[in-house]
Amino acid sequence: MRVLEPLIELLRGLWTTLRFMFEKPVTVQYPEQKKPVKARFRGRHVLHRYENGLEKCIGCSLCAAACPADAIFVESSENTDEKRFSPGERYASTYEINMLRCIYCGFCEDACPTEAITLGDQYELSFTERRQAIYPKEMLIEPVPAGGQPTPQKTEPGVFTRSVPEMKDPRD
Ligand code: SF4
Ligand code: SF4
Repeated sequence: MRVLEPLIELLRGLWTTLRFMFEKPVTVQYPEQKKPVKARFRGRHVLHRYENGLEKCIGCSLCAAACPADAIFVESSENTDEKRFSPGERYASTYEINMLRCIYCGFCEDACPTEAITLGDQYELSFTERRQAIYPKEMLIEPVPAGGQPTPQKTEPGVFTRSVPEMKDPRD
């Protein structure tokens, strides 16, 4: 009987191999094939625009204040009706996120009063230099939606008079 033991083990191994040959493979051929991320996945940040193309960010720096990793740098400037970037009093003339510092906690999106920043589904972040890890506003802001205008826009005087644009109550 002891003589047959290696043969039995060999056959058991071959059976296992044979069984898996007919099962659906679980390996994903990344990067050609990508699995969709979960609904609550937190990836690279996106700065949003309104339908008319104006930027939702009003440069208030609340996201930077809420960030536990000190990853966000915001510098704001005044809007004018001749040169308007956002519907608020100010806009972010500089907006940078250091992706090497970010821990993807989502505190920045929670702190934002205008829902300007969200963590999207982009996870392909790679850099070969530390400087490349600092993403400027131009990389973070979404494209102008169809029918919208790029910023800065020329707007009618007296239309945008609030420092923080009116927001819909999320409970409505
Ligand atoms: S996700 Fe968290 S760590 Fe990253 S920028 Fe936002 S607040 Fe900072
Ligand atoms: S992203 Fe939001 S919280 Fe941050 S500066 Fe812009 S408006 Fe303020």
